[in-house]
Formats: sequence, C-alpha cells, structure tokens
Amino acid sequence: MSLRVRALCLFAGRAVLAMAGVASAQTGAPLPPAIAAPQDRPYPGLIRLAVDASDVTRHIFRVRETIPVASGALTLLYPKWGPGSHGPVGRIDDLAGLIIQANGQRLEWARDTVDMYAFHLTVPPGATSLDLEFQFLSATDDVQGRIVTTPEMLNLQWFSLVLYPAGHFARQITVEPSVHLPDDWQFATALEVASTAGATTTFKQVSLEVLVDSPMFAGRYVKRVDLDASGPAPVRLNVFADRADLLEAKPEQLDAHRALVAQAYKLFNSHHYDHYDFLLALSDRMGFIGLEHHRSSENGTAPTYFTEWDKNPDTRELLPHEFAHSWNGKFRRPADLWTPNFNVPMRDSLLWVYEGQTQYWGYVLSARSGLVTKEQALDQLAYTAAIFSHRPGREWKSLQDTTNDPIIASRRPIPWRSWQRSEDYYSEGELMWIDADTLIRERSNGQRSLDDFARAFFGTDDGQWLTPKTYTFDDVVAALNAVEPYDWAGFLRARLDRHDGPPLDGLARGGYRLIYTETPSDYFKKLEARRKFADFTFSLGFSVGRENKLSDVLWGGRAQAADLTIGTQLIAVNGEAYDKDRLMAMITAAKTDTAPLEFIVKNGSRYSTVRIDYHDGLRYPHLTRDGNAPARLDEILAPRQ
Ligand SMILES: [Zn+2]
Repeated sequence: MSLRVRALCLFAGRAVLAMAGVASAQTGAPLPPAIAAPQDRPYPGLIRLAVDASDVTRHIFRVRETIPVASGALTLLYPKWGPGSHGPVGRIDDLAGLIIQANGQRLEWARDTVDMYAFHLTVPPGATSLDLEFQFLSATDDVQGRIVTTPEMLNLQWFSLVLYPAGHFARQITVEPSVHLPDDWQFATALEVASTAGATTTFKQVSLEVLVDSPMFAGRYVKRVDLDASGPAPVRLNVFADRADLLEAKPEQLDAHRALVAQAYKLFNSHHYDHYDFLLALSDRMGFIGLEHHRSSENGTAPTYFTEWDKNPDTRELLPHEFAHSWNGKFRRPADLWTPNFNVPMRDSLLWVYEGQTQYWGYVLSARSGLVTKEQALDQLAYTAAIFSHRPGREWKSLQDTTNDPIIASRRPIPWRSWQRSEDYYSEGELMWIDADTLIRERSNGQRSLDDFARAFFGTDDGQWLTPKTYTFDDVVAALNAVEPYDWAGFLRARLDRHDGPPLDGLARGGYRLIYTETPSDYFKKLEARRKFADFTFSLGFSVGRENKLSDVLWGGRAQAADLTIGTQLIAVNGEAYDKDRLMAMITAAKTDTAPLEFIVKNGSRYSTVRIDYHDGLRYPHLTRDGNAPARLDEILAPRQ
C-alpha cells in the first residue's frame, strides 16, 4: 500500500468521526506507519536467491536468500499482486519457517499489522547482509490451491519464492538466482545460465522484475522444438509431460505451432523478446495454467494435447493467447495496471484490451496458424456467442465492472456465474473486438482491419522488451481513429457500459448468424467429452459435471425456477437413472408430450422430486452464413500471406 493511499484512509476516517461528533477517546488505535513507497532508485548490492526445488514428493520449496543491507530499520515484502493474474494472488499463507540472521545472530521480525505481506526488522550496527531462510509450502492437494510439483515435473515461480526490500522499484533490485532440481531433470526458462554444478544451476544476474517474469518448468520427460530457426530471435517449444509417450508429436502438429509464430509476426510486424520459450506442461497431475511473460509463457493443458489431437481442439487457443500477450499485456500495458513493484495495488480498468483483445488474437491466430480448422473456429465462436446471449448479469453489472473480478473474486468458485459474471472481459471482450474489426472492414471497404491497429499499437519498437510501454483509454481510441476515423470512444463506452445485449453485431457484419439446432457441433461434442460435462444451458438451463452434479445453473432459467443449484446431484429423470444420452432422448421425446420432465435430485442427504415443464427440444449453438454481409469472418480467420 502506498503512502498516499494510507494517508487518504486516515483522513477519511477522521472526517467521518468529526461529522458524527464522536469523541476522540473513541477513535481507536492509529494505523501503523506507512510502508515506504517504491522509488525508482537502485538498491545497492546483489541479492543471492537459492531455491532447493528437489523435494517434489512433499511439494516443498526451500529458499535461502542473502540480502545486502545497511544498519537500521528495514522492511521486507513478499509479492502480493501477480503480474498476469491482475489481482492479490500472492500465497503469503504458504510462506513458513522464516528465520532471519545477521552475522550468525538471529534477528526477530514483526509482521506489519495491516499489510500481512510486510515484515519489519532492525538491522544491527555493523551488519552488511542478512541471511534468510524460509519455505514455500506449495499445495499437497488441489483443495489447497494449484499443484505445482509432481514426481515428473514442477513449475517454479519466483513470485512465490522471494522476499525483497521495500522502497525500490523491482527493476532497480538485482538478483542472482540459482535452483537445485531433482537429479537428471531438465528445465526451461527465459533466464540465461551462468554456471552449472551437478543438479544446481546458477543464472545470470537479472532485475527482480525480470526474475519474476521468468518462471521455470522442469521435469523428467522433456522435448524441445525450435519453432523459428531462421527468425529474428529464437522461439522454442519446451514440452514437459507425465510420460515419455505423451511427447510424441506429428510433424504437421509442430508445423502448426511454427505457423503460429509466423502468423503472429505477420500480424504484429515485430517481436518483443531476445528469445522466447513456450513452457508447455502436458499433465493431469500438475495444475493447469496459462500465464504470460515477456520472453516466455507458462502453459498447462491436457496430457493428450498431441497424442489425441483430434479430440481436443478446445485446448489449442492457449498458446496463441499467451504468445499474443508478449505484445498485448507485457510490452504494451495499461498505465493503471503497471506497478513499480509487486506490492502496489493493480487497477484493472483496461483488461478488455489486455485480455479481451488477446482473447480475440488468440482465437484468430489459432485459426490462421492451422491449430484449429475454420469450421472449429466458427463452432467455438458460436458457443461463445450463445453463452453471452444468456448473460442476465449484464442487467446490473457492466462489462467494464467485470474488469474488477480478479480483485473481487480471485477465481474462487461462485454459485451463479451468469448473474455474478466472472471476468467476462475475456470472451465478451472478444465479441466486442470482432464488432470493431468488422466495422473497420465495412467502413474501409475491406482496405483496413484491426490487423492495422495491432501493427500500429503493439508493433512499435521492434525487438524492445525491457521497458513496458503504457497506454490509456484515450491512446486506444486515438490508435483506432488513426486506422479508421470513427466515434471509437462512443463505440467502446457503449459496449463497456451498457446493460442490454447480447453483443453480436460483429457476427452479423462478419456475415454470420447465431442459430440453435438439436444437434451439437463436432467441436461442442468434443468439448463436452474432454471436459466431462454435459451442457443443457440453452434448453433446461443447467450443465452437469462430475458425479452427475450440476456444475452451472443459469440465472432466471428453468432449472433455477425449479430450485436447482450448483452442486445438486441428478439421480433420475422420468424414473430412470440419470445418464446424459438418456436425458437428451427424453428432452427430444418431451417435444411431443405434455408431461413435464421429472427429476429425482439429491442435495446433501436430502432427496427431492422436481419438475421442469419444457417442450422445446435440445438446443445447441451454431453459426450459419447470413448473405446480408460479405463473409468477413472467413477473411479474418484465413492465414495471412
Ligand atoms: Zn490472458
């Protein structure tokens, strides 16, 4: 928390008490002194950070850190605000065993009583460095959080493994990191190796900012593929898997990943790294992840990503999305989101650009590169459009307000997603950018497109990556106007602030219309099979997940009206045990029957019978060609020459 923020809190508190005429004796204890705000000045000396990551069976990371200091008061911070997570995600509760010594003498520390991520201590006269040790106790079961170590692989995030002095920009603190891994494991990271001794690797000195932006995957089963041998900078795909056979990739699969790099360069006309490493984990043991960095990305997906390629088209937007972030999010960053260190609060007002347009480019690049077919891309878009056509929460919560969700909810499970909304700036943002792209194409008679915006906005300063270039709402509007003069401020604000919807103008202008039929698309069927759920949202208003429990219930839908909630278990339908195919057949049969569907459901230990009077048949979303506009969506999805 910055000095200014805390001063404001104190001031507001006093003002309220003064207005209420409360006696000063009842004002309670004052807040502790503010923690020093970060300054853009070098921290003297070099921090040595040694992580023992070899205890993968007990999921414990052991950290030893040496911090150069001067005598006097010192505050150490544990990172709280996660770049790319856009919220206060630091797991301070998993930091344990903190012992701090100077010249072999133990120093007592005291945690700040307001900021739980800050530790105060006094450095004794004569001491020039501190020796710290602590553990990061990563989750041993997925109810505790994301699993980051398994017997076969690990995901090391420096964000969770460092304490750093308050009062300095992260880019002004220099760190020399080293890692001890299990024997015979290989690793990948954007960091560059300085030296190796057995299973311990020391990396070249970097700023704390670059360190946190350079996580590591390591493991037993590894495959590395060069994706751009003759390009301006090395781009590598580093694959880690639960088993060796899961690394088998067909040449055409790897070619699609190479085409991703080529198509990104055609789109952005630049790169913002000196080398780039995709870290890709194919595992159902390590927790899934998609997290962007300047020169790498953390990607966790299905173990059968390569080996059952035809069954998992829904997994193939992940790498394009995270790669696009090297331009949109890391190099160009919203001015209110950029922070000087990891303990200054982030503000997320422009995530509909940072994430929304990245969602769009990830979608577009997955089709342009051939990672998915055009048909799969259209089916995927139909599903997105259908979901956001069933979003009653827009009535009270604008798209703009959803940008606060990473701070409000930190991705905790919620009971009524369609009413509470949840980070809708990703996919509703994608629909908004389709709207903008097709509008530019329409107004310019196909001469210009959002590609021109991408080139102009993200493509400057080719090769530069160390210093993010920040932007504001007005900068986005000005860049759009430079591509195609229009009331872009009005266009964006209308879509960000409105309470009606759904936002499907881009589909119409793209030459397509959203329809529902009784047959799911091939993409939809594969998505249901891979994620082990059955989606009846567009008919009965629920979806069914593991153990036949409802995994989503549409606000205002028929299931909600029948008192069903997430967690309700479906036992039987019309007297027969619940089964997805059986329910589909019964919904179809109910079209010509007047009797309601009758469900036996279980909540906790209580069984009950509920009826849903529904006779409109199965409904699954599709896009169909609408000849009122040119097929601009086809042009958008086609590879650039
Ligand atoms: Zn993203």
